[in-house]
Amino acid sequence: MPGPTSKREVGRGERLLPGVWRLRLPLPWPGVPHGNAWAVAAGDGIVLFDCGYHDEGSLGHLERALEMVNLKLEHVRLLVCTHAHSDHYGQAATVVDATGCELWMHPDHEHMTRSATDPEEGLRRRLEVARQSGVPAAPLERFAEQRKGANTGIARLVAPDRDLVPGLEVDTDLGRWSVHETPGHAPSHVCLFQPERRLLISGDHLLGRVSLYYDYGYSPDPAGEFLSSLDTVEALDARLCLPGHGRTFTDVQAHIEANRATVAERVQRCLCVVSEHGPITVFDAIPHVYGEPVTALNANWWISETLCYLSHLERQGRVVRIPGDAGPTGPGAERWASA
Ligand SMILES: [Zn+2]
Ligand SMILES: [Zn+2]
Repeated sequence: MPGPTSKREVGRGERLLPGVWRLRLPLPWPGVPHGNAWAVAAGDGIVLFDCGYHDEGSLGHLERALEMVNLKLEHVRLLVCTHAHSDHYGQAATVVDATGCELWMHPDHEHMTRSATDPEEGLRRRLEVARQSGVPAAPLERFAEQRKGANTGIARLVAPDRDLVPGLEVDTDLGRWSVHETPGHAPSHVCLFQPERRLLISGDHLLGRVSLYYDYGYSPDPAGEFLSSLDTVEALDARLCLPGHGRTFTDVQAHIEANRATVAERVQRCLCVVSEHGPITVFDAIPHVYGEPVTALNANWWISETLCYLSHLERQGRVVRIPGDAGPTGPGAERWASA
């Protein structure tokens, strides 16, 4: 039992600017202890940008964070989600049910909808990607066992009332926010920009520290899409970034460049590993790319990321994918080689 001195995470709210509040909400994930929702004053209420992960007690964290800045859930007039991941969209149904507000989100949310509609199918799909990447059977079975019936972080699927696409604007007391599609991290990802104040609500597209994650399997080239999205955001010339995790930052351009450099370095490393060790499976390539072996904690993240770089290189004609040989339980793991 956590004692009185326990440092258990709770929701916290703080004012960033007049009419803008950061709501820091706890997450159950190792290495990602919390995520941000942003409240922005709008008439007699607020627009809520993102809403946190759904879990036992998670609504209490959101309410506590709001209360710390003298706000209440009833003040939410509109919910806008930067993308459909559970840590940004998870409580959408709860917020919509409690307030009757509209939800605005990008229509390409299938990357979440599919696994949330049918968690078993979602798990089966993830296991298939892992198996095809060369993850051995024993750890895969352990993973499948742990995930069965586990919380998806999504209270209930709720469809957006309006498609959050360029042209739509979000009205607040600080002015209007324009919508910019920034796929890569997730197909449904958008950033919101307030041009007079040059504020950017960046979701997970741009974070205080470089942390690359891509949803693999829902679009042709997530890494390439991410790089184009960095160009999109660069053109906005934002002064202050309000990210989906961690603190705000001002040196937006330097963050964009750091992301580009990290992607370029990892793509290059994948290319080198394939040319030195290929034909090689993703599972066997990962220790060479990251300098560390695959563990249960990093497996999903690194497999997706490496697959995205290899698919990016495949599109450029620099590597080739070799399908696995047919075996008694289906095709074996695919391997990657220099073109
Ligand atoms: Zn995300
Ligand atoms: Zn996130």
